[in-house]
Amino acid sequence: MRASQQLFGISLFPKQMAQLAAYERELLEWNEKFNLTAIRDVEGIRVKHFLDSFSCSLIWKEQPPRRLIDVGTGAGFPGIALKILYPAMKLTLVESVGKKANFCAHIVQTLELENVEIITGRAEDVGHDPIHREKYDWAVARAVAALPVLAEYLLPLVKVKGGIIAQKGESALPEINTAEKALRLLGGRMRQMVKVELPGVADERYLVVIDKSAATPAIYPRKAGIPSKKPL
Ligand code: SAM
Repeated sequence: MRASQQLFGISLFPKQMAQLAAYERELLEWNEKFNLTAIRDVEGIRVKHFLDSFSCSLIWKEQPPRRLIDVGTGAGFPGIALKILYPAMKLTLVESVGKKANFCAHIVQTLELENVEIITGRAEDVGHDPIHREKYDWAVARAVAALPVLAEYLLPLVKVKGGIIAQKGESALPEINTAEKALRLLGGRMRQMVKVELPGVADERYLVVIDKSAATPAIYPRKAGIPSKKPL
């Protein structure tokens, strides 16, 4: 992972390299049986999963979250990759599809990752659970929903003065433009959009960073399914 050093100034210890190798091996194996992710080759896993997840470190620099929640984590991206990078961080993964959550549990066990909680459920329900509501420094999500919907999933989970990172493709800017009302209602404030360039990847990638500037009103998130049906 020399690229992680060049791109993000990250150097990995042998233990972290071994954990990534084991994760890669399990992903390749499980993907033959279940449809976990569309990316199924070694190069794709390293660049589009591991490096792309690590790009969140561009925002945190020397101050990674103490508590992070990854919503719609799928096979663990970006959450588990970030947990390997920051072993001291407490991580919560939310995933509504059982087989994907099971895979994440298998990885957490195989890699002996500590302080990881996996919730098989929906973001809209987790957002009302007092154990999770407004408890996180940061929330992240990649490829889960358009920004107005994603803001309703993520902002209720984050403390005031915390923030969210949405990993987005070329639609980042138009999505930001449609999310203004949602952010106002949910207590969010747009901070910045950072372009991410990955070796050999032509598609545009961005980190959309939103600060939580005020508490989220108790009515949000609305009932499961409503945020995506009727975005704010
Ligand atoms: N974040 C992963 C990645 O980038 O590889 C997975 C992306 S996948 C396209 C989106 C995932 O979000 C799916 O696994 C889906 O089950 C999950 N998801 C979508 N809406 C959700 C919700 N409201 N609550 C929990 N999980 C959700």
